[in-house]
Amino acid sequence: MIDAQLKQLAGWIEEARYAIALTGAGVSTESGIPDFRGADCGLWKMVDPFKVASIDGFFSDTHGFYDFWLWRFAKLSSAAPNITHLSLARLESRGLLKAIITQNIDNLHHLAGTTRLYEVHGNYTRGVCIDCHNKIDTAKILAKVSREKLARCDDCGGLLKPDVVLFGEMLPPAFMDGLKEVLRADLLLVLGSSLEVYPVADLVPQAKQNGARVVVLNREETPFDGSANLVISCELGAAMGRLSELLDLTH
Ligand code: NAD
Ligand code: ZN
Repeated sequence: MIDAQLKQLAGWIEEARYAIALTGAGVSTESGIPDFRGADCGLWKMVDPFKVASIDGFFSDTHGFYDFWLWRFAKLSSAAPNITHLSLARLESRGLLKAIITQNIDNLHHLAGTTRLYEVHGNYTRGVCIDCHNKIDTAKILAKVSREKLARCDDCGGLLKPDVVLFGEMLPPAFMDGLKEVLRADLLLVLGSSLEVYPVADLVPQAKQNGARVVVLNREETPFDGSANLVISCELGAAMGRLSELLDLTH
């Protein structure tokens, strides 16, 4: 059943004029990064997201926020791309995928070699001053935290934070650029996202209304399965490995 669905998907990818992908935390679980809401070991079952992933939490408990990031940075920086990231990058280099919009902040699509990448929730490797918006590497922020407990901007004294979108913050311009890609697409692959986080989840009905085929690959159901053209209930690594064979991407 899954094989027939993957053959159908391979055919649609070959036929597509402008295929794009939207990815979520599920593409990175096989790199050892826990997801957000997945049934097993979701990151947010371990910590309170409103403390460590909201802008209010950042201000009300800055030390706690930095402690979490010291731990998370170590985890993220030791992760490597898996077969899903690598297959998507190969699809792009063969001209079969035009862009990836990702909710992930983990930098793994970039490390896999994807070039047209819209990181709509930011990237953990980059940091920013909340006052003057100067950019600074997150590694440097955390080095300051280790030395001085708080990380302040050398220019204006503002607090520094990883340049990732926290609950309560606006999305970066990459979101509008990603939306433009969605409106060009005639095929949207959604991989490893619960599609519960807005406004990103809205990209799926927008693609559909604009005439694109929508294919969801996920191990759990999503709220958009009913309107998708194809839903492949799968483990992504195995599914993307097979898709790569079908599309002859492996050499
Ligand atoms: P999510 O956790 O809500 O959903 C992930 C989905 O992927 C779940 O439905 C889960 O069942 C599925 N999944 C997990 N592993 C899978 C696998 N191997 N094969 C198939 N399906 C698998 O993630 P989301 O939709 O991206 O949620 C959005 C928020 O989570 C974003 O704001 C994102 O920034 C944040 N987040 C990012 C990371 C990361 O950068 N890797 C990690 C955790 C959370
Ligand atoms: Zn500053």
